[in-house]
Amino acid sequence: MIDIDPHFAAGDPRAALFESLVHLSAKGPTREELVDTAVWASDLYGVDYVARIKSLNGEEALEALIIAAHDGFMCECCGRHTLERPSTRSSHQICTVCGWEDSPPSAFGYDGSNGVDLDAAQQNFRTIGACEREWVELVSSAKPGQTRDNGFSSLAARRERLLGDLEDVFDSDEPNPGMTLEDARAADDYNSPRPEYDYERSQTWREVTDERIDQVDEWLFLDKPGSFFYLPALLRFMLRNERAPGNGDALSSLFWFPEPNPGWVFEYATERQIGFLAEALALLTDPWLEQSGQWFIYSPNDDTREAFEAIAKEARRLSS
Ligand SMILES: [Zn+2]
Repeated sequence: MIDIDPHFAAGDPRAALFESLVHLSAKGPTREELVDTAVWASDLYGVDYVARIKSLNGEEALEALIIAAHDGFMCECCGRHTLERPSTRSSHQICTVCGWEDSPPSAFGYDGSNGVDLDAAQQNFRTIGACEREWVELVSSAKPGQTRDNGFSSLAARRERLLGDLEDVFDSDEPNPGMTLEDARAADDYNSPRPEYDYERSQTWREVTDERIDQVDEWLFLDKPGSFFYLPALLRFMLRNERAPGNGDALSSLFWFPEPNPGWVFEYATERQIGFLAEALALLTDPWLEQSGQWFIYSPNDDTREAFEAIAKEARRLSS
């Protein structure tokens, strides 16, 4: 019998981990194809797991050990810790619980062995237990250590949560204090008749309909108060309809106008609104949604990226 007990000092967090690994490993034999990873885990924790597991000879022991050793890495389709390496969206690892391949979005909306995009795959997993129907018979239930990530939330769940919070976060009932959408169009067209939609001056943002938002091609000439007034109506449109309104340029243009200063929104937004904006923009600009054509942020330019990053950075600062 090899003595490889690590003799951790009292209170060393690795001691409890080691005990749970030994417990798991007692269940089964090793799997040679996973030895390399076990060696890596051994290096990480400074314990000769391979020798220890081989001495115990239990079913699926090494796989369980590996997963428990680093807790696995989250599959972004089902949220389980099933991956041996972190998801990069191009690692091409396949999740054993849902069948999703860690692959990037493509011009077709998906890549690798995936036949649907991530949003559809997540909804399939919820309804039929696999990312696609052809995987239903091939996936297996989660093993010990393949826990669901506490921070996991599907694209659809994030969208629903944002929609649910929107009215509360943007709780103003003040009428439009700045330029209306019709004003903006008139400013762009110089001599166009105005203001066909003058009623908007007395509306709250809640009363601006999706139909009205969708008619707008031109947001570039809104002033700051007008821009901020329409922001929640625009976000609501995109979250509800799963696409950008009009010609698709609205979200991009709104953030870098009325002047090329991405910080303008901070003059108006509360801390909570900045946090909400950061979450909403992270979702709306996720390449899976952007490139699958469900929501299309029309050619985000450097100014737009800068604006989004500034909002995310401010949100992190406020929450730290
Ligand atoms: Zn999965």
